[in-house]
Amino acid sequence: MLALASVIAASLSPVPHDAAQIDLTAGQPAPRSIVEIARAAWPESPCASTASVRLVDEPLPPTDTFWALGAAPLGPNLPPQMCVALVRRTLSLRRACDVAVHELGHLAGYVHPDEAGPQPDDARAPMMAHNPGSWPACDALDEKPLTRATAIRAVRRVAPRRTIACVTIKDGWYYLCRARHPSRRTIRYTVEVTDEGPRAVKLARGERP
Ligand SMILES: [Zn+2]
Repeated sequence: MLALASVIAASLSPVPHDAAQIDLTAGQPAPRSIVEIARAAWPESPCASTASVRLVDEPLPPTDTFWALGAAPLGPNLPPQMCVALVRRTLSLRRACDVAVHELGHLAGYVHPDEAGPQPDDARAPMMAHNPGSWPACDALDEKPLTRATAIRAVRRVAPRRTIACVTIKDGWYYLCRARHPSRRTIRYTVEVTDEGPRAVKLARGERP
């Protein structure tokens, strides 16, 4: 029998264990750079040479109590076709890489620090936290976490009937956007990447970003 569990990063409540919720065919393949870094982190894993990572909108069906960054079956004795991890698509490449390292840790058979079961007793331990730490090899991925189009979409969600223009402030890490309406005053927003995805925050009148 395979011991399977849905495994969730950044859960806000006890983790539900229902592997049937994980659709290992969902989404799109993640960039090769992420997959190679995450595989290399767990060389002892039976999935080390076969694990794949897919980017999805929702790694698990959303509930009121948690918001999943990723999901994967719990190893270590998975058949090759189950060596698949899901990672939330809206994360920056660097953060998606951290989450992929976490999920491939589950494929290797490791559990969260507050759960009973195998846990890495080395520098990888922080990666198995519900909200994983930063993996050094992922830090080298210097892709900008936000595109202008993503920033505009984030503002459109909170200001749907306005014309939106955004400029980057910190080389793609941060955007300042203006949402115009023909008959109302312009509202300014900042947009940055959070673990929940791009987030638009309204600036008060006269407030500096
Ligand atoms: Zn997890």
